Amino acid sequence: NFRCRSGFKLIEIDDKFRLLHAGDNVVDCGAAPGAWSQVAVQRVNSAGTDPDLLRGTVIGIDLQHIASLDGANFLSCHDVTAPSTHKKLQNLLPNGQADVILSDMAPNASGFREMDHEKLITMCLSLLELSEAILKPGGSLLCKYWDGIYAQRLQEKLSSVFGSVRPLKPNASRKDSSERYFLAGTSKISTRNKEQ
Ligand code: SAM
Repeated sequence: NFRCRSGFKLIEIDDKFRLLHAGDNVVDCGAAPGAWSQVAVQRVNSAGTDPDLLRGTVIGIDLQHIASLDGANFLSCHDVTAPSTHKKLQNLLPNGQADVILSDMAPNASGFREMDHEKLITMCLSLLELSEAILKPGGSLLCKYWDGIYAQRLQEKLSSVFGSVRPLKPNASRKDSSERYFLAGTSKISTRNKEQ
């Protein structure tokens, strides 16, 4: 039972691209109400549900309040783009480093499509600074964006930092929305899915 249906998007992406592994340290940006964190907790075993697997960490951040969740540590009422938040994350993460940064962040939509697009792109670009501060070499970043004129610029920026970047549109994402995701960095694609 997920706190909202966006959980299915992360499940779909992770089933295909194997982003999250037991023992991984994950930062979930824009985590409220918490469905992505619920998925991450299961996949990195941060609640220790499977004692035979490594136990990871999940830290969720949001401007809004996030109700507590077993296996996750939440920074409610925090701005992901603020350098002070980056410092807090460094202190909370084991060795100050994350294996994966997830971002399903979105600004409050104004209804002006291009303005909202540009705002979200700017937020995504700020994730590059966060990555520099906390992401392990070889780590990966999954971030939501709204498609539009600056998407290519974001993709180029991500490519220059991470090497590989793929644009994704999960089936669980509404067909009529401009919502997309970039998956940047190394991900272990299972051979089963390679031909798809
Ligand atoms: N992935 C979440 C889930 O599965 O429950 C849903 C995320 S919701 C689509 C987007 C969230 O991004 C909102 O809760 C919003 O408050 C948050 N957000 C927007 N700007 C933010 C910022 N600068 N820092 C932190 N959170 C932000």
